[in-house]
Amino acid sequence: MSEYSEVEHPFLLMAPLTVIDYIIVHELCHLRQRDHSDAFWNEVDKVMPRYREHKEWLKQRGAYLDL
Ligand SMILES: [Zn+2]
Repeated sequence: MSEYSEVEHPFLLMAPLTVIDYIIVHELCHLRQRDHSDAFWNEVDKVMPRYREHKEWLKQRGAYLDL
């Protein structure tokens, strides 16, 4: 067993671009809000009103990340 995995998050290779976008938006919003407070999700919502669909997409694939 290698202590390094070749692909850390293989699901990302299968993710639609919109989901990748969501992850990027999520990360950018963390520059303003470091936690997952209501204020944080408000920021995400402003940029990407349909973010819940993408969040759900990740969750359904067991890939919910606490980014
Ligand atoms: Zn996060």
